[in-house]
Amino acid sequence: MKFGKTIETSAKELPEDWQPYIIQYKLLKKNIKRIVNELDDTFRLLNLDASAISDDAILLDSESVHSGAASIMSQETTDQADSALSGPVSAADTAGKIEYLIEKDEDGVVHPVITVKLRSHPVSPPIDPIVELNDDGSAPLDELSLPPTTPTLAQQISLPEAAIVPPTSNTPHVAGNVVQIETKQDGNVTETQVTVRLQTDQAFFDQLIDYIERTRAFEKDYTHQYNTNVQTLGVDLTAVTSPFKHDFEIWREIFRLYMDADIWSHTEGDFRPTNSAHEGQERFTAFTRHIEKLGLPRKFRDKLSGKLLVSFYKLNTELIYMKLLQEMNEAATRKIIKKHDKRTHLVAKTQFPQFVAIDTTTLTKALIFTIHNDLVGIVPQIDDYLCPMCLNVAWRPLRLECNHVFCSRCVVKASRRRMFNCPVCRAKGAIYRAGVDNVDQALLNFLKLYFPKEIKEKQADIQQEISEEEVGIITAAQSRHKPCIIM
Ligand SMILES: [Zn+2]
Ligand SMILES: [Zn+2]
Repeated sequence: MKFGKTIETSAKELPEDWQPYIIQYKLLKKNIKRIVNELDDTFRLLNLDASAISDDAILLDSESVHSGAASIMSQETTDQADSALSGPVSAADTAGKIEYLIEKDEDGVVHPVITVKLRSHPVSPPIDPIVELNDDGSAPLDELSLPPTTPTLAQQISLPEAAIVPPTSNTPHVAGNVVQIETKQDGNVTETQVTVRLQTDQAFFDQLIDYIERTRAFEKDYTHQYNTNVQTLGVDLTAVTSPFKHDFEIWREIFRLYMDADIWSHTEGDFRPTNSAHEGQERFTAFTRHIEKLGLPRKFRDKLSGKLLVSFYKLNTELIYMKLLQEMNEAATRKIIKKHDKRTHLVAKTQFPQFVAIDTTTLTKALIFTIHNDLVGIVPQIDDYLCPMCLNVAWRPLRLECNHVFCSRCVVKASRRRMFNCPVCRAKGAIYRAGVDNVDQALLNFLKLYFPKEIKEKQADIQQEISEEEVGIITAAQSRHKPCIIM
């Protein structure tokens, strides 16, 4: 499927009021044709062979593109220009060098310019080294007027009179604006450097940047609204997930399954999504189906819980939309620049991202973090309170001097086996020195409140273990006192 079609299909997945924030790839693509026309005219007026310019070898040469801020595209056009230049410019001695550079001014406006260097044996007297043009520093190439004592650029580089067509309102495209002409005399060779500001190319980038900035403003407002909604939901959730409320256990199960669903496939502690919007959507749908299948929403006793679950789903769906919007805009920007470079043979792909790079993970990472931290994190999960030794609830919790928490039973057993260092961080003698004073009373109260069921099970297990130990001791004692039977 063509990219323009793909983006149209994806756009349908987004809500109606999000549509204005999708970069209009097709519109931008149409504008590329205008850039090609402007380049054709510009090169025609400079008397360079346009067909030679359209050859990949001249302008688009990956070997000549360097990465970094000063990256420019340049390529000697000696061979191709030779045949194109005639008249006062001596064909045999002429070399043309074309550079394309996108500059950004203080106001953040980008200016794409091409610089053409021509070398020739002068027939007419040389013009001033630097010719100041209009007040704004520019003049249309086809209306160029130089001081009367010097030949015009057109004469200098043999511009045919017929090619000078003043632009009218009906002109579909115009040649670029000359912003600077510089000539240097080296022996009997004159080097003329013409810098041309490309109007249609500038319009193309203005439009692209405008789309990107509009989307960014939307993302900013949206994030603000999103966080407000999360906070509001968080307050209500705190109320219905109180350990004294019936729905507490149901919410804990829902959030446990939500974390297991690993919708964005992020690593622990870092919420950067590694899944695409579509992968995220698939996992989220599977999660909601699972919840419904288990009949969890039907078990709610508080009516508010049902409403809050809908809000929770909505926030997740919007997060998927945001990821999709960013992915679409990132792809559209990348593809349109690629198309621009391919059609115009001007290399923007190494220059443009320095001004406007689209990042598809930072914002979604922040939103994913918000969901986990401010909503899912409201309900404590048993996994966060396990003893690292028995992988069961850390009951009764002993906090060692190194700050690691274990259940007291495990600490006692480790001590019996003469394991005196902390099993997690190897802190020397941490277990040896642990005693009643190490019981974490606050944590103990917290666990009692939130995990009564788990604690009960754990206590039963411990009791069972102690009973078995006692039986073992008695059996061992009995076997020692067995009468010796001599066969
Ligand atoms: Zn333990
Ligand atoms: Zn430790």
